[in-house]
Amino acid sequence: MDTIIQNLKHVQQRIDEACKAAGRDPKEVKLLLATKTVSPERIQQALAAGYTLIAENKVQELKEKYEALKTTPHTNHFIGHLQTNKIKEILRYEVSCVESLDRYDLAEKLHQKLSQAGREMDVFIQVNTSGEESKFGVAPEAALELTRQVAQLPTLHIRGLMTIGLFSAEEDKVRKCFQLLKRIQQEIIALNLPDVQPQELSMGMSGDLEIAIAEGATIVRVGTAIFGQRIYPDSYYWNEQKA
Ligand SMILES: *Cc1c(COP(=O)(O)O)cnc(C)c1O
Repeated sequence: MDTIIQNLKHVQQRIDEACKAAGRDPKEVKLLLATKTVSPERIQQALAAGYTLIAENKVQELKEKYEALKTTPHTNHFIGHLQTNKIKEILRYEVSCVESLDRYDLAEKLHQKLSQAGREMDVFIQVNTSGEESKFGVAPEAALELTRQVAQLPTLHIRGLMTIGLFSAEEDKVRKCFQLLKRIQQEIIALNLPDVQPQELSMGMSGDLEIAIAEGATIVRVGTAIFGQRIYPDSYYWNEQKA
């Protein structure tokens, strides 16, 4: 029961120390709880500790936990591969930001549904900075073009970029992924597109959040270091058929 609270304290300490080392204010870095496979009861413990930004990878899990979490104030982001036939549910279950927008056909369909509902949504562009086949995300060289296209859709507001760093013990290689995302952010800002303010950099997880913070992360997405090991390997979430 208390482990989650202790883990949260420990992760917050890691964030604070990384910020200090980078000369940054810890208030600039939000801790997002990556809650895949975690039960609503355990998510509630983290919410009660004041961490209210949570994210699922699968619409099915979002749906299953919705009732149980509905009355506890929190913000839902979505960080998984989103199939276009699941967009309705993303709206129904009150996701406020899709961080994993990685292709135009998804943006277009999201825009259609939002228009019909008279709603708008924040989105992040997910970039595949590691170049690994197995990971979703737009290729770095196509990120600016996708951003230009999405910027034309009035219901979608680009507020940031998201990436999953390379899984590697070689810090330099991991760091390069985060530096690349930062560089793309700067390039997008320089385009000066209307209503495109990608100030959020969602990067860094349990194993590499210090590196991400050093490179400018404003959101770190942490699962394992808070909730413990998952029974499913991440390949279950990341290597599924590309739709
Ligand atoms: C699972 C997941 C995380 C958190 O990973 P941990 O290593 O458990 O901290 C972050 N981002 C995405 C997209 C994830 O799927």
